[in-house]
Amino acid sequence: MINKENYQTLTAALQPSKTTLVAVSKLKPASDIQALYDLGQRDFGENYVQELVEKQGQLPDDIRWHFIGHLQSNKVKYIAPFVHLIHGVDSYNLLKEINKQAEKNGRVISCLLQIHIAEEETKYGLDEKEAMELMERVEANPLPNISIEGLMGMASFSDDANKVRAEFRNLKALHHVLKQSYFLANDSFKILSMGMSGDYEMAIEEGSTMVRVGSLLFGNRG
Ligand SMILES: *Cc1c(COP(=O)(O)O)cnc(C)c1O
Repeated sequence: MINKENYQTLTAALQPSKTTLVAVSKLKPASDIQALYDLGQRDFGENYVQELVEKQGQLPDDIRWHFIGHLQSNKVKYIAPFVHLIHGVDSYNLLKEINKQAEKNGRVISCLLQIHIAEEETKYGLDEKEAMELMERVEANPLPNISIEGLMGMASFSDDANKVRAEFRNLKALHHVLKQSYFLANDSFKILSMGMSGDYEMAIEEGSTMVRVGSLLFGNRG
């Protein structure tokens, strides 16, 4: 079951800033995705490779599929033929594998670097220094079938609005620094993927260009 009212409220809220909505459909049935598609939604986000591949086979071809989970190198090949944007890249080896699979499919695959901005401990995401080092490596060893288009981050799950806001600001600031340092020659580093059901309004205020919203549209995942 989708929440049509929330969808309309959300799309209206995103319109002035032209923020892209990625509807996060993980663990939800294909029929829910189809229902939102019928209202005009085209960008959908999934966290699990097998689930994404199954849904992709059942649903319309013009859906733009975003992979937003943690991607293991050995599974890149399953999504490489069709994935629109991979949000969670946090190592050179993963970039290298995506490049290899993109080449096999005759494509250039768009990626975002995942930055660790939250206080919570997690294995995933780069800090500022690691992001710089990764970019240095990419500059020294170009990957022609990859396009690094921006950054993705998840703020802390916290009621402390100041803390969440500060984390979004840090991500935006890093986006600016990397853009100045590595992307002056072209115009490709434009995406700032931040904001979820609980914090998308603040994320937009802080410069998000892409929000990833699940439970507000599809209900809780239980
Ligand atoms: C699940 C998920 C979301 C959506 O979370 P909601 O709180 O349901 O909106 C966004 N981003 C990532 C990376 C996720 O894993």
